[in-house]
Amino acid sequence: MAEFALIRQVAQRVVARPDVVLGIGDDAALLHPVAGMQLAIATDTLNAGVHFPPETAPGDIGWKALAVNLSDLAAMGALPAWASVALSLPDADAAWVEAFMQGFDALAVPAQLALIGGDTTRGPLSVTVSVVGYVEPGTALRRDGAQAGDDVWVSGVPGEAAAALALWQAGKARDAALQQRLDRPVPRNALGRALRGLAHACIDVSDGLWADLQNVCTASGLGACLQLDALPVSPALRATCADDAQRLVWQCSGGDDYELCFTAAPAQRTALQALARKLEVPLTCIGYMQPGTAVEGYLGGRRWQPPRSGYQHFAG
Ligand code: ADP
Ligand code: MG
Repeated sequence: MAEFALIRQVAQRVVARPDVVLGIGDDAALLHPVAGMQLAIATDTLNAGVHFPPETAPGDIGWKALAVNLSDLAAMGALPAWASVALSLPDADAAWVEAFMQGFDALAVPAQLALIGGDTTRGPLSVTVSVVGYVEPGTALRRDGAQAGDDVWVSGVPGEAAAALALWQAGKARDAALQQRLDRPVPRNALGRALRGLAHACIDVSDGLWADLQNVCTASGLGACLQLDALPVSPALRATCADDAQRLVWQCSGGDDYELCFTAAPAQRTALQALARKLEVPLTCIGYMQPGTAVEGYLGGRRWQPPRSGYQHFAG
C-alpha cells in the first residue's frame, strides 16, 4: 500500500531521544516526559492556496510547516521536543514526500526534535504539524503578563515576508533575501528561551505586528503605544519599497514574520541589548504598554494606523 510506503519513508529519518519510549509505527507513540517540567503544545495547519501558493517547493512547505509551530514554542519560551505531522496529499508522490521531509529535517534535526507520529491521507494538499516542548513551571512567556510602563520590543525586521509576497502577487522580480524570509522563516527559539525571566509577555508575529500586539493588549487588559518611526528597516525592505506608507502597512499588518513581540520592564534594557548581541538577533524597542484597551500608533508625532490590522481567515 502506497500509504505504508510513504510512512516507512518518513519513519526512517527520525531523531532519537531518551524521552521517546516508542516512536512511529504503533497505534500511538509512548513518551516519558522529563519529571517536573510542564509541556507546551501547539498545532498549525498550512493549506495549499491559503497559506502557500500550490506550486511552492515541497521542501519549503516542510520547513515552513515546522517553523510556524516552532515559532509558537519560541513565543512560550518552551524547548522543542516532539512533533507529529498529518499530511493530506492529492496523490502518493514519494519524491514530493522526500523533498518535504528534507525541508522539515533541516529544522528538526538541529533542534533535536523527534518526529513521533502523524497521519497520511489522500485529499487536497494540506499539512498539519503539532509540536510539544518543555518549559520550567511558572516561566512560560504568556500573552497576559504585560504591565503598564513595560517597553514593547520586536525581534528582527517585520514586513519582509509581506514584501516578498507583494512582489510575487505583483508578478515582479523576486528579492532572494526577502523570498527566504517568506519561504524559510527562522523561528526565534533561542531568543524565546532566553526571554524567560526577562520578558513579562510574549507573542510570535504571525498575523501581523499590530494584530498580534493587540492580542497581548487584550490578554493583559492594557493598551499599547507604538512609535512607528522606531521600526527597524533592512536594506532589502527599503530597496523593495520607496513608499514609506506602503512599507509601514507591510510592517504593521503583513504577517508571516515569525518574529517575537514581547514586553519587558525598562530596567531590562541593558540586559536585552546584551542578549541581542549574544544571539545576533536585532531587538528593537518600538513602544510601551499603557492603560487602555488598544494599540495606537504614532508616526512623526501624529496618530497613524494601518487600514487593517492583520490577516483574518474568516474576515469579510
Ligand atoms: P492507524 O491507522 O493505526 O492510525 P497509521 O497507518 O495512520 O495508523 O499510522 C501508522 C504509524 O505511522 C503511526 O505510528 C503514525 O503515527 C505514523 N504516521 C503516519 N503518517 C505519518 C506521517 N505523515 N508522519 C509521521 N508519522 C506518521
Ligand atoms: Mg492513522
